[in-house]
Amino acid sequence: MTEAEGIVGEFKSLKRSSDADLLAMQVGDFYEFFDEDAEIVGEELDLKTSKKSSGGTKYPMAGVPVAELTPYLKALVERGYRVAVANQRETESGHVREIERVATPGTLLETSDADARYVAAIVDDGGAASRGDDTYGLAFADVTTGRFYVTGVDGDDPRESALTELYRFDPVEVLPGPSVREDDELVGTIRDRTGATPTLFDAEAFAPGAAERALTEQFGAETVDSVGVETDAAIRAAGAVVAYVEETGTGVLASMTRLQRYRDADHAELDATTQRNLELTETMQGDRSGSLYDTIDHTVTSPGGRLLKEWLQRPRRSRDMLERRQSSVEALAAAALAREELRETLGEAYDLERLASKATHGSADARDLLAVRDTLGLLPELEAVIDAAPQLDDSPLAEIVDAPDRDAAAELRETLDAALAEDPPSTVREGGMLTRGFDEELDEIIERHEELEEWFDTLAERERRQHGLAHVSVGRNKTDGYYIQVGKSAADDAPDHYENVKTLKNSERFVTDELEEKEREIMRLEERRGDLEYELFCELREAVADAAETLQDVGRAIAELDALASLAVHAVGNDWTRPELAEPGADVEIEQGRHPVVEQTTDFVPNDASLTDDRRFLIVTGPNMAGKSTYMRQTALIVLLAQIGSFVPARKATIGLVDGIYTRVGALDELAQGRSTFMVEMQELSKILHSATDESLVILDEVGRGTATYDGISIAWAATEYLVNEIGARTLFATHYHELTALGDHFDSVANVHVAADETDGNVTFLRTVREGPTDRSYGIHVADLAGVPDPVVDRSQDVLGRLRDDKAIDIRGSGGSGGSGGETKQVVFDVQSGQMKTASADGGEASQRDERSPGRTDAENEGRATDASDSSAALPVDEDAEAVLDHLQDLDVNETPPVELMAKVQEWQNKLND
Ligand code: ADP
Ligand code: MG
Repeated sequence: MTEAEGIVGEFKSLKRSSDADLLAMQVGDFYEFFDEDAEIVGEELDLKTSKKSSGGTKYPMAGVPVAELTPYLKALVERGYRVAVANQRETESGHVREIERVATPGTLLETSDADARYVAAIVDDGGAASRGDDTYGLAFADVTTGRFYVTGVDGDDPRESALTELYRFDPVEVLPGPSVREDDELVGTIRDRTGATPTLFDAEAFAPGAAERALTEQFGAETVDSVGVETDAAIRAAGAVVAYVEETGTGVLASMTRLQRYRDADHAELDATTQRNLELTETMQGDRSGSLYDTIDHTVTSPGGRLLKEWLQRPRRSRDMLERRQSSVEALAAAALAREELRETLGEAYDLERLASKATHGSADARDLLAVRDTLGLLPELEAVIDAAPQLDDSPLAEIVDAPDRDAAAELRETLDAALAEDPPSTVREGGMLTRGFDEELDEIIERHEELEEWFDTLAERERRQHGLAHVSVGRNKTDGYYIQVGKSAADDAPDHYENVKTLKNSERFVTDELEEKEREIMRLEERRGDLEYELFCELREAVADAAETLQDVGRAIAELDALASLAVHAVGNDWTRPELAEPGADVEIEQGRHPVVEQTTDFVPNDASLTDDRRFLIVTGPNMAGKSTYMRQTALIVLLAQIGSFVPARKATIGLVDGIYTRVGALDELAQGRSTFMVEMQELSKILHSATDESLVILDEVGRGTATYDGISIAWAATEYLVNEIGARTLFATHYHELTALGDHFDSVANVHVAADETDGNVTFLRTVREGPTDRSYGIHVADLAGVPDPVVDRSQDVLGRLRDDKAIDIRGSGGSGGSGGETKQVVFDVQSGQMKTASADGGEASQRDERSPGRTDAENEGRATDASDSSAALPVDEDAEAVLDHLQDLDVNETPPVELMAKVQEWQNKLND
């Protein structure tokens, strides 16, 4: 067997033993990929591949220098590959290669991304729950910070709730269990909806017994009990994550010190669609800039930024905890000088959670430990700043800074301070990391080492004096070690005990016995110094790893102060106010509210929004571009901001806390970008109708727009009734279906508002002002009017529209009451004479006719009715041309048609009718 064959053969057998996608195998100073792996790597990373001959076959080969593996590993993992890394060790019987870790998206420590990187497990208990009622279990671990969360999910639609929870954490890798296969729907769903890599992990790890063992081994039996992870599904998910992190060999399990069980009930629901619609962390176009987070983020540390983002994505429901945050923000807003001092101090902090993780993983160097020392040293400084400012000292900030184990932090800091040199190298094997006075033996070595260095430094001078030599110097290099160098002209004067070792062009090099002896000693010392320092350093690093929990606490306190200070900075700079928080489900009343992002770039017109008992459901009308979407979003964002403990962009606000914010925004906006289909729109609507409660806030923007008018209005109508009668959620519903405004008269809790536009001399001015009541006109026809369509046509359009509306008369369900489903059924018809919606008597013949056209019937039936209506007192003309025109009219979406086209169409119809 040739050497090459041996290598490729070894590669292949190692590869077979792992389930990774790729293997990087160390061969001397390189990590090599062979065969298919080399081709993939070459292609993905634009890396040059060469050929390695082996037993008559040529194998592709690609390699990266050992020291440069990290960036390549990162790039491959980010492209979704799981990469096994086999390292080479020297043993007495030669090289041994073993897979030491598998880098996967969720266990990649070498990230520079400031965001958390969660590896998640989702377990479907399949109704086999024995300990509790949970049917889904979820666990999340961020190996870069050691965070570990677990929860169980139940409820009406546990799968959907579990998935929502999964999206909220935005994991990079997901382990679905217990025995999920590649072609399971869940795998596809995870891939499509999270962008995370689904990894099918060993079913064994999900087994209740194994999972519980893994979990108790990691966190201790008492912790597992006291945290209250009592359901099978949750335990199985958590156990699987622990086993997975262990198996991938990152060695960070030790930084996972705390198991945190969280309950859904702590957070307000905010699904992925809503996060996107509200542009929380990126805009609809996918840019970070212009998002809410980007706008309000003034944090000075990456943990602070990470926390603020997490707050936005996971708003809270507990009034107590929110009010504590508010009080901190208020104090920081008031104490400008202290705030800036605090932020300046925070600005010096390093990412302690990540450093703790690096220490446990064994990858921290002396500079990292120095960063730990310095960051721990900030704690007393931060406390001093808070102490010195009465406002801050009286606020919950004092407790935040006091929460970590201060003694443990101070002790570790002192240990590090006593040990580390001020400017250590980034290598850990060559000494120079530790300071004098830390270790006696090390000090002795260093002292002797320095003596010897001094001896060598002064040797040239001594030789010159002693032997009368001119041109003498002493040097050292890798191959020759120490030598005495004498210029050619003086070389003849070299004393006898000089031993010539090398002849150069202009000089001769000599050694002496004494020099060689000293050289051996200095080499020995250097080696011992390196070893001893490394040993001491490892102890130090372990001490840091042992204090991981304290470091995480301190890191957390720093992040919290940073995030709170950021909220204060934004509040002060933008004239935001502290909202009053009211109990869940209570009124939302916003005076002079603004859109937090739009107000940055526009002369914003503030508006009130009040969702009180007699107006829990607002129908928002107004022409295109009036500001409907902005108004609704700003209301949602103000509620959201209130529920992270922030101040809000309003003059005054009272926020009845919500248990979730649900949005379905802008079929028009979304469709235009090809992001949505009618199916998606309906799925989202369905989700809202299933999930929202009377404590939720629902924003519906142009729902039903994605289909033909009749379907759309029917769905919008029925959804409104359902939200009002069955759910009772506080809702804002923007619609271009003017017909829906009639609902305002029939439900106590439904009110109409419109975004006003002013029209003078044919010019529309958007006032951006929200006013009570529905819009008084149909804007499509209004636009036709503005475009100069002849008056008779405009008048006739109004008339025809009226007739069409008449034909679409719909009964209103459960009118007159809110909340109950048993409300009495009334019907409303459009009265052509008065131009008003009217309530019809329930026993009239007309009413029963209408009844057939209730929204419960299919679209086809409704549409069929719509064209052959013959029961109206104002029956439409039956002549063929007229009917054709009417058909066209009906199909035409006035809002979607450019005015000029509209004009041409109307002209065409007129011609047809006049013929
Ligand atoms: P609509 O949903 O009614 O079509 P949008 O909410 O999309 O309208 O708003 C249209 C434009 O008006 C946006 O560019 C927005 O920035 C601006 N706008 C909306 N509301 C206001 C306001 N209150 N003050 C200033 N500009 C506003
Ligand atoms: Mg809009």
